[in-house]
Amino acid sequence: MIVCARCGRDREALAVPPVPGAAGEEIARRVCAPCWEEWAAMEIKVINELRLNFMDPAAQATLTSHMRAFLFPGDDSTVEPGERLDFDSIGEQ
Ligand SMILES: [Zn+2]
Repeated sequence: MIVCARCGRDREALAVPPVPGAAGEEIARRVCAPCWEEWAAMEIKVINELRLNFMDPAAQATLTSHMRAFLFPGDDSTVEPGERLDFDSIGEQ
């Protein structure tokens, strides 16, 4: 069990890191399995909202920044204030 960085609850951690490398280990250590599932759904909305094109090497970095803003809302954000997405409302229209 972990105290999740996103929902703040004592919940089950991911069994395995969801992405490779140090980022995956950090997520497995700090984010509960249900919140990761929420991000997996949100990720698609973010890609659509920002029209990310993964032929562009900057797109992955942009997506990672928004992932961190979503999963670790208490950390210093890696997303500029003007570029911050309202996760509650995207993809709802
Ligand atoms: Zn959580």
